[in-house]
Amino acid sequence: DLRGRRAIVTGSTSGIGLGVARRFAALGADVVLNGLGDAADIEEKRAAIETEFGVRCLYSPANMMSGAEIAEMVALAIDGLGGCDILVNNAGIQHVSPIVEFPEPKWDAITAINLTSAFHAIKAALPSMQTNGWGRVINVASAHALVASPFKSAYVAAKHGIAGLTKTVALEVAREGVTCNAICPGYVWTPLVEAQIPDTMKARGLTKEQVINDVLLEAQPTKQFVTIEQVAGLAAFLCSDVAASITGAIIPIDGGWTAH
Ligand code: NAD
Repeated sequence: DLRGRRAIVTGSTSGIGLGVARRFAALGADVVLNGLGDAADIEEKRAAIETEFGVRCLYSPANMMSGAEIAEMVALAIDGLGGCDILVNNAGIQHVSPIVEFPEPKWDAITAINLTSAFHAIKAALPSMQTNGWGRVINVASAHALVASPFKSAYVAAKHGIAGLTKTVALEVAREGVTCNAICPGYVWTPLVEAQIPDTMKARGLTKEQVINDVLLEAQPTKQFVTIEQVAGLAAFLCSDVAASITGAIIPIDGGWTAH
């Protein structure tokens, strides 16, 4: 039950973030949506959360490449919802390329959106949690926070980085009722995964079916994609009171990927 809690979920106009935001709202939390996309489509998703779940839902257009806009997103939660109790750093992008051809702007964007944005958001949101003596920070990392794959240098570096940030924040606020954990999904079927199939086909000279079965699900012993609902369920569990002792944890939800 998250009634009375106020949550920010970055990158929640699509995929995992949208699933997490909708799960929190279903449990009674007020939510700030964030992410890119078509304005009318986003407004439809925002309004649907309010009408389906009877909670307040605001939208922040903050670009996760800008520290100033991230601070504005947190201010929107504090001014509009009265505070921030739950922060999910989920926004992320991917680029697949051998390192010698890896475009510098892609490296900069991936490290900014997948790692540095979490620093800015945590910095801005923690004081509200510390004042209330209760808070949950959840960083959506990846199995790539624990292991690597070729051709994903920036992504793997950023995800390993967010594991370190997670542990550091957990230690800093351990006695203040605030936990900080990282969720590490294996492959989840979302637009992010679908979009990298053409580049992986090119980088490895494979067909679409070969990429899905021999590259993506090759790593996942269950041979099943993780579902958005499963990731949202784990995020909701981490927000519950029985999860109060789970902090600084890097938690795989990857169909066994990081077991081998
Ligand atoms: P997605 O592409 O469906 O969603 C990404 C979200 O981030 C969108 O809402 C998008 O608008 C937003 N976003 C992108 N750039 C942004 C920016 N500059 N500013 C603000 N918002 C921005 O992707 P997804 O698969 O749902 O991924 C969500 C998170 O889960 C990412 O951090 C990703 O690395 C992680 N993850 C995904 C998988 C997977 O298999 N899909 C696996 C492990 C980890």
